[in-house]
Amino acid sequence: MNYKIALVPGDGIGPEVVEQTVRVLDKIGEKYNHKFNYTTVLAGGAAIDATGECLPQETIDICKNSDAVFLGAVGGWQWDTLPGDKRPERALLGLRKELGLFANLRPALLFEELADACPLKAEIVSGGMDILVVRELTGGIYFGEKGFKDTELGPAAYDIELYSEEEVKRIAIVAFDMAMKRGKKLTSVDKANVLESSRLWRRIVTEVAKDYPEVELNHMYIDNAAMQLVRNPKQFDVIVTSNIFGDILSDEASMITGSIGMLPSASLAKGNFGMYEPVHGSAPDIAGQNKANPMATILSSAMMLRYTFGLSKEADDIENAVKSVLKAGYRTPDIMVDGMKPIGTKETGDLIVNAI
Ligand code: NAD
Repeated sequence: MNYKIALVPGDGIGPEVVEQTVRVLDKIGEKYNHKFNYTTVLAGGAAIDATGECLPQETIDICKNSDAVFLGAVGGWQWDTLPGDKRPERALLGLRKELGLFANLRPALLFEELADACPLKAEIVSGGMDILVVRELTGGIYFGEKGFKDTELGPAAYDIELYSEEEVKRIAIVAFDMAMKRGKKLTSVDKANVLESSRLWRRIVTEVAKDYPEVELNHMYIDNAAMQLVRNPKQFDVIVTSNIFGDILSDEASMITGSIGMLPSASLAKGNFGMYEPVHGSAPDIAGQNKANPMATILSSAMMLRYTFGLSKEADDIENAVKSVLKAGYRTPDIMVDGMKPIGTKETGDLIVNAI
């Protein structure tokens, strides 16, 4: 099969980790007889330098005409003094909006080989941890009406949390579908004891559950969920939650796994279209030094194969290759511990390609 991928290397370590991922994808293509056709486009700081805009129209058009978008990272010190709406990171919000990416999937998987990097006690995570956080990405308080007004206590500012039934329904369906492919357990996180929008959220998720009788659904308040994640993370399989709660919970869940250099993510639109990227940023402190861990980006490509292209076997191949490199004791600086073999960005790519 032929697949069209819009490649957005971005800034800092973005181009380095994307380069290694392309090598991995090409190896998969060679092994399984697929052809991945890449169109490289500009976004973030690189786009500002070349065109004056962080997200040129040409980039949006090419992304929309591709089967999937694959992004490294954007941002860097050079552009930090620009006003908020002109900064490189603005490109991410623009892409989410333009591409209708309403569901953000962030797996928090604790690799057995990296258990030492987990900040929790060994007995809490013994036997591993594998959670998928499904975060609503285009609604809620981040996109609600905002403004300023005078109050009895003086000048004030407000942001409105608003969810339509339809927005909750579509993210709930994504989460139930994911649960069906995994452990068939879904935790919906809200603040229904206080917020009207959360009561609507809970009602709609409960209605959608009727179409998934095999999935065990429970509801949890956000404050309790934040606590349970560090007390007993193994109780979770799939978590579904709103934009703001998901922003916080997915970071908490991912920190439990140890290194930011290991965490992939997917943002999905209706249908199979998606944008895939590592959770980490552009890491300007280590850019261009062959120090970046490309595994998060390479694991994001496995998510792309699984969710957008329906190539599960190929995705398993990439994930198993990453595990085998870790098992053989190779480590980039971010996950290095005594007794392991040090490698850089490029060598990690070499080893994963060879393992495939
Ligand atoms: P960061 O994730 O770039 O870096 C945080 C720390 O983790 C740094 O010490 C970095 O060296 C390390 N790190 C990150 N990725 C790594 C990897 N693959 N291998 C090894 N070490 C890694 O976050 P930051 O420093 O807060 O932000 C740097 C820039 O990236 C900023 O401009 C920020 O706005 C941007 N950013 C972009 C995205 C994105 O593109 N999705 C996400 C977060 C931050």
